[in-house]
Amino acid sequence: MDQGGRWTDMYVMRLEKRIRDVYTEAEADIEAKMMDFNRRRNIKDKIKLQELREGKITQEEYNRWRAGQAFQGKQWIAKREQVAEVLYNANSIAAKMANEQKANVFIANANYQAYALEHGAGINFGFNLYDSSTVVNLIKSDPQVLPFYKPKKSKDMDWNMHNITRQITQSIIQGESLDKVAKRLAKVTGSRNMASMLTNARTGMTMAQNAGREYRLKEAQGMGIKLHKEWMSTLDERTRWQHADLDGQKQPLNKPFRIGGYEIMFPGDPTAHPSMVYNCRCTLVGDIDDYPAEYERYDNIDGKPIKAMTYREWEKAKGKQYSKSRVAPLTAFNQVTIGACKTVEEVNKLLNSAGLFRTTINFTSTADLTGCDLDSAKSVAAAYEQVFAKFPKLKGKFDAPNAHPVGMNDNTYAWCYLRQNGLVQVNPGPERYGNWRRIMEHYEHDVLSGWHPRGTTAESIVTHEIGHAIDGLLAREGVLGGITAKGEYRYASSTMRNTIMKRVAKRDPVMQQMFDIWGGKEGMSMAVHDYVSEYATKNPQEWFAECFAEYITSANPRAVAAEFGKELEKLLNKLED
Ligand SMILES: [Zn+2]
Ligand SMILES: [Zn+2]
Repeated sequence: MDQGGRWTDMYVMRLEKRIRDVYTEAEADIEAKMMDFNRRRNIKDKIKLQELREGKITQEEYNRWRAGQAFQGKQWIAKREQVAEVLYNANSIAAKMANEQKANVFIANANYQAYALEHGAGINFGFNLYDSSTVVNLIKSDPQVLPFYKPKKSKDMDWNMHNITRQITQSIIQGESLDKVAKRLAKVTGSRNMASMLTNARTGMTMAQNAGREYRLKEAQGMGIKLHKEWMSTLDERTRWQHADLDGQKQPLNKPFRIGGYEIMFPGDPTAHPSMVYNCRCTLVGDIDDYPAEYERYDNIDGKPIKAMTYREWEKAKGKQYSKSRVAPLTAFNQVTIGACKTVEEVNKLLNSAGLFRTTINFTSTADLTGCDLDSAKSVAAAYEQVFAKFPKLKGKFDAPNAHPVGMNDNTYAWCYLRQNGLVQVNPGPERYGNWRRIMEHYEHDVLSGWHPRGTTAESIVTHEIGHAIDGLLAREGVLGGITAKGEYRYASSTMRNTIMKRVAKRDPVMQQMFDIWGGKEGMSMAVHDYVSEYATKNPQEWFAECFAEYITSANPRAVAAEFGKELEKLLNKLED
């Protein structure tokens, strides 16, 4: 045998081993789940039979229940057979894969509609079938499925990344829903933050599916078919503006999609900027040059199929702008007075001359933003201006903001002393309030990645802190929260988060499902993650501050922030003047 032949043999053997590893694990998993299903069915059957004998259910109801169970049982058997068949044929499949054979190497179907539904809603319909090119790509290239957070990667991280890819592969083979994927990731990474695991699950699944599609398009191109790749986003209000604008963009396979200074090869591309990737629910589709495709699209707001159109056309047809283009920074700077300030001292003077801050007989709280650059100082003034304009009642309730340099390593932009009259301090370090451009860039990334709420801007950093101040004020004044019967101190936020989230869930079936499936604590974390921001999942106080920032800054506050705002107005009316 020649060298080439021997090399191919080795390669086929390695591929075969990988297929066996992956599918043996899947087989054991499916077997265990099936046994669990059978055990539960037998127990339930005894209960149902008893109920039938006692006349609690009719024969017809019993039969219907049995038929449903039989159907589910068949699904499990089909899954097991599919996996067993792959194992049986592992050798020939590996050979086909090595030869880049174009035929469907795995016996599997693509059921994109089911996946797209789940993909769009981001939750639990349970898709069963998978696309074989996804699995081929995962097994052949063991790709990284998530973007790196950190510039340097450690051995530990490599190991983690490999494990995440492995779990994603299993989830796809076994047809699991996103919440199951998140649980798998939590297990291998040891993380207890389910909200962030859900982000990783969604991001990883998007990457795996779209990389599989890219792989298949390359195969087709290799066969001489002329085609382009096309970006398709989810038609709802959760799509970030870059991806809404990208919708319908076509590119040659080897060229990146381009938007707002970013480049990205496909939805979920782990080498793209993380803010372009996390939580993405977009899809890659192929567009054959000679036969332009007419895709059926899915309106994720009305929950029904519609004819092909781009995201922006869809928005127009709805008469509403769901995904705002680039948020204009420094919105409140229209205020001539703040805008006209030429130095930080002038900003200080302006803030101190308006009677905005706390004054007692022997004490006047004074704003001092020395150390900030001019635009940063203006942003602080603008944030207060916006809040006091909306709630004049708050004038005189808080201490004035100050620039307070801390160590160079301190990553905090700004903070608020809740129980000390809402004193807000901003960090004037070279990467912080000494460099407004940098702050804006960082903050914009944080909004895109879902870390901060949609529709907020860098100005909202201070608005967020004022939110904390109000949370503390409501408790201090006994409007909501304060010292409990047990002598503990509770902020307004600890009660308010529950009230507001549950109220919105009543009107929003997707959020309600999060509470139903995941239970109180995890459901809350997921709902806050998806409807407010990832940072808001930290605790009720951060939830309050993030909601406040969105309510004040966003031109179009979403359901939770809007409901929060209504409630807050009521509470503030109870404040004594
Ligand atoms: Zn996207
Ligand atoms: Zn905070």
